[in-house]
Amino acid sequence: MKDFKTKGLSRSDAFGKKLMRKIKPIIGIDVGGTNIKFGIVTPKGQILNEFSLPTYANQNPKKVLEQVALGINKILERKSLDQFSGIGIGIPGKVDVKKGIVTSAPNFTDWDKVNVKKHLSKKFRTQIEIDNDANCAALGELHFGIGKKIKSFIMITLGTGVGGGIIIDGKLIRGESGGAGEIGHVSIDYQGPLCRCGQHGCIEAYAGNAYIKKRTIQKLQEYSESKIIDIVENDLDKIEPKTIFEASLEGDELANKILSDTGRYLGIGLASVINILDIKTFIIGGGISAAGSTLLNSIESSLKKHGIKEIVKDLKVYPAKLKNQAGILGAASLILN
Ligand SMILES: [Zn+2]
Repeated sequence: MKDFKTKGLSRSDAFGKKLMRKIKPIIGIDVGGTNIKFGIVTPKGQILNEFSLPTYANQNPKKVLEQVALGINKILERKSLDQFSGIGIGIPGKVDVKKGIVTSAPNFTDWDKVNVKKHLSKKFRTQIEIDNDANCAALGELHFGIGKKIKSFIMITLGTGVGGGIIIDGKLIRGESGGAGEIGHVSIDYQGPLCRCGQHGCIEAYAGNAYIKKRTIQKLQEYSESKIIDIVENDLDKIEPKTIFEASLEGDELANKILSDTGRYLGIGLASVINILDIKTFIIGGGISAAGSTLLNSIESSLKKHGIKEIVKDLKVYPAKLKNQAGILGAASLILN
């Protein structure tokens, strides 16, 4: 086991503010709908011993927690728990962070007020923290990504849902009940499409994967020459974000339109957020953000068009830095916060 010494570690290092206590690696766990990813995160943000196990999200909470414990025990086959500062866990759901309870997780069967912290603390005597995946993504960027330079930003995670995390002066804003940052459910049209949360016209109902797919299929009637049809070999059910940016790279008109429309809708919603918070930096992560400049430029120009001029004039939209390591690094960041 490598010993991580504090000597020579600069203040700007991710672990800088924890210099007062002994710096140790963290076990980061990213619980996804299909797989649970595990890794040992070093003070410099490297991931060692990365592996994954199936989640079995469609069984029950007990089974999922058994899988989490199985992964931790796998790490502890070669190391002891006191070699770590703690265990950080990210999960797609609503979380009561203080109590460590997942209050709901829509993509997991029977997850209703599951006390993850209590359950795991019985088996593993160390600091254990849990939060939703969007907050973890924001904290990951703060400690290991763009946060090394910028201390206030809004992180948007695009995927099945649209998640948000707000960082102000190096602190994650959780709100009174842990629900702050639900930017995906800012409505831009009260008569707009129905969102899975039950409201109409939420950003998510335009920029969530399923909604992007639906809009693409509808538009294909007008754009019958689109390359999207060839990419999915006429099976429209196979359309996913990847299909759209593949087609976009080939210059496909519909794919570019879908990406720029998605950016425009996001910008309209995010303008409300910037008008309230006056934060100049947006970080876009998750699935479709890999599409690159068409989407990001569209978000930026829409934000500049719809926000208050003095606030938006010097705003910047960046792609997330952490990419596919965001889950594990973000979860580990919970121990640093
Ligand atoms: Zn909604």
